[in-house]
Amino acid sequence: MYRIDHWIDGHTVASSSGRNGNIFDPATGQVQGTVAFADVSEVDKAVAIAKAALPAWRATNLSRRAEIMFNMRELVSANRKEIAALLTKEHGKVTADALGELARGLENIEYACGIPNLLKGGYSEQASAGVDVYNIRQPLGVVAGITPFNFPAMVPMWMFANAVACGNTFILKPSEKDPSAAMLIAELLKQAGLPDGVFNVVHGDKVAVDRLLDHPDISAVSFVGSTPIARYIYETGTKNGKRVQALGGAKNHMLVLPDADLDMAADALVSAAYGSAGERCMAISVVLAVDTIADDLVSKVQSRIPNIVVGNGSDPSSEMGPLITGEHRDKVASYVAAAAGEGAKVVVDGRDGAPTDGFFLKPTLIDHAKPGMKCYDDEIFGPVLTVVRVKSYEEGLQLINDNQFGNGTAIFTRDGGVARQFQFDVNVGMVGINVPIPVPVSYYSFGGWKASLFGDLHMYGPDGIQFYTRSKVVTSRWPDPRTSKVDLGFPQNR
Ligand code: NAD
Repeated sequence: MYRIDHWIDGHTVASSSGRNGNIFDPATGQVQGTVAFADVSEVDKAVAIAKAALPAWRATNLSRRAEIMFNMRELVSANRKEIAALLTKEHGKVTADALGELARGLENIEYACGIPNLLKGGYSEQASAGVDVYNIRQPLGVVAGITPFNFPAMVPMWMFANAVACGNTFILKPSEKDPSAAMLIAELLKQAGLPDGVFNVVHGDKVAVDRLLDHPDISAVSFVGSTPIARYIYETGTKNGKRVQALGGAKNHMLVLPDADLDMAADALVSAAYGSAGERCMAISVVLAVDTIADDLVSKVQSRIPNIVVGNGSDPSSEMGPLITGEHRDKVASYVAAAAGEGAKVVVDGRDGAPTDGFFLKPTLIDHAKPGMKCYDDEIFGPVLTVVRVKSYEEGLQLINDNQFGNGTAIFTRDGGVARQFQFDVNVGMVGINVPIPVPVSYYSFGGWKASLFGDLHMYGPDGIQFYTRSKVVTSRWPDPRTSKVDLGFPQNR
């Protein structure tokens, strides 16, 4: 049994709130540790420390900020096996997947290494006689990040790398289900040379989140999690005058056209639906199969499922680990249980033969799903792939555009013209063309449409820099005794 407390002002701070949560090992179902749940006074302390650290940090020159990010890049890379082991221990994902999460997270630290270039402003010389106009981007102040259980290292990296490099100080409230990675990241940032108080971690639940949302010294909130909470964070944070970006849930559809290479499409579907036990916001959870190839595609997916090795994530032979909690596993299983009654056909039932220790469910395939069935309408967030049969490209596109979510989607086809039309027509924020999980590289930005994102700016990349800074425009004239005179007219440029 171990204990996770807060990280404030460069060191661990024992909580005195008296409230704690259990940390489970999802592969065994046993409690392996406890995590502190902050009370209001503990959040206030972290915010006060971050506020006190702000003046010196925002005055730190860009070269030094970049140097700290370069150091952090090396430290995360050197410690990647240790961080990955923590992810497997608390989240349950297999080692290869945990290392993949870190590699994608690291891209965001690499992007922030370019901060001197990213913060360049524009300059207009001689906007009027002797007058120059330029804009600069300045940090917002103390900003907060609230993150989900499914990427305990990568999603914090989406946020803090750019936030801190832009000159803000940061409070992270990680998921209470797998809080350890955040603590190792905090230690590495300190080793990288980040001054104490610039990056802080408070653990907890709604009490901590609500205090961050109404604390007057928090300028902005980045959130990633489920749609109902994302909506709540956006509404509450903006009502309190904060800048908010809140990324929510997903139901990502892959449209497979008759001309696609069906073996490639089946490989991609199995990887994108069952990787990380389907607990990815960019997982494919629905395949739209055009009627003429639907039987073939379903049987190709079905034939691949028995080969997937399900087991403890720390076992190198495992390809898919457990779900995060017993409660979540039971919820996912309840969709499978209800599917047949709704008129769908359960082709592979992942409840059969799932390991009974831990929170396991094996890959599940549901065919003949339709809108109106819960297995189609809801975000299940588990290893469940539903097949909806469609007559045409147009019917598939309509289903995607009618869906409440708009995070990711993919089309599999050999027809470039149709793929281009799909990219033009589809109301989704991230699109893959023969790419099943189109998570943008760190120099683009990540974000869905519709109920998958509340706010104006996407996360990380150029939008991240914009989110964590505000623009100031300076109009300047240096006195020139040759042109100086009294003039009561309104300033004009011509
Ligand atoms: P969640 O919404 O339950 O929790 C996210 C965060 O919010 C956690 O830190 C949690 O402590 C906090 N929280 C939970 N309930 C709260 C409440 N009532 N009030 C205030 N704060 C609360 O999400 P999760 O289960 O940790 O993560 C899975 C969800 O995240 C899925 O819906 C998935 O699609 C989504 N997700 C989205 C993206 C994206 O980029 N769009 C990325 C990853 C995960």
